Amino acid sequence: MSEDSARTKKIAIIGGDGIGPEVVAQGVRILDVFREQKGYPLELIHYDFGADRYLRDGVTFPEEAQRVIREECDAVLLGALGDPRVPGLEHARDILFGLRFGLDLYCNVRPVVCLSDRLMPLKNRTAADVNFTVFRENTEGIYVGMGGQFKRGTPDEVAINEDLNTRKGVERIIRAAFEFAKETGAKKVHMADKSNAMRHAHELWLRVFEEVGAEYPELERQHYYVDALCLYLIQDPTEFEVIVTCNLFGDIITDLAAGFQGGMGMAASGNIRPGAVSMFEPVHGSAPPIAGKDIANPLATVLSVGMMLTHLGYEGDEALLSGIVKDAVESGHVTRDVGGELGTKATGDWVVAELKKRLS
Ligand code: ATP
Repeated sequence: MSEDSARTKKIAIIGGDGIGPEVVAQGVRILDVFREQKGYPLELIHYDFGADRYLRDGVTFPEEAQRVIREECDAVLLGALGDPRVPGLEHARDILFGLRFGLDLYCNVRPVVCLSDRLMPLKNRTAADVNFTVFRENTEGIYVGMGGQFKRGTPDEVAINEDLNTRKGVERIIRAAFEFAKETGAKKVHMADKSNAMRHAHELWLRVFEEVGAEYPELERQHYYVDALCLYLIQDPTEFEVIVTCNLFGDIITDLAAGFQGGMGMAASGNIRPGAVSMFEPVHGSAPPIAGKDIANPLATVLSVGMMLTHLGYEGDEALLSGIVKDAVESGHVTRDVGGELGTKATGDWVVAELKKRLS
């Protein structure tokens, strides 16, 4: 065991709202198996932040917890945030932005893999035709909340949201995508923008893509306007290996891409700051209509735990978990959204049993 793999790794666990705690509970069981069966030195710190806590005592994301996560933790496993009882989403904003901006998690990394032909929605295509990774900028763009409303509720109302792009922000996400492509042996990096319409902000993306891309002569680079890229993704997903884009377009492209994966219950993500504490979460939200019914698909969380283990330096476990998820889909040990009949917990039981078997 190397010195780093022997060091205790602290993981903050935040289930959050809606189906978040249900799916995260299954992710925690996976971590427990790795702890018990492979002896991984993982210390889990459970936090009850979310709408219940906020409504009970007004707490969203206390300073001390932020400090512990920032200074002591190696990773965060998050479920989802969002609850109809908090229509202004004050708690969600504090927690999500506290993590994303507080830890400067600038790479939202979303692997798009179709694990089984059973999940492939396109005709004349197989699961092998979909295998790409989206690098979504995670700290800037339209999501920073700059703007405002003027003369609200009158016929002269004005509503503005600014799209904030900095040279530093654009450059670091584009570089991260090229670095990832180089490390994983990809041949091509695509960048999606809308520089024909958003001439100022997205011309910066176009220019930086060319400049940074020139430092990687072994990698082909291709720029598409985002609308065209959405079309080409459906027409021929095999063209894509790594896609880098801004915060807003990354949000949209990855929901579209989740359609290749079997839906929101199958899509995993990492909010990463290379070499630093990073956060892993399923792409889906808190899905209030299905919360508390034991029907949410926990597999996106299982796959997110796989990404986390890779980030923590444990090699091979992500592939192991993804193989188990593939077998769960192919053998029908899954929830209704992907064609099975199991509940959230029973799906977790199956995955945990398989993991124990494969690790023994
Ligand atoms: P957000 O704004 O946070 O993205 P949202 O309400 O737009 O959230 P989700 O919460 O992701 O979207 O869910 C939308 C719908 O997708 C849910 O109502 C549910 O039907 C389905 N869904 C999402 N996640 C899952 C899951 N893990 N298992 C099964 N169905 C899911």
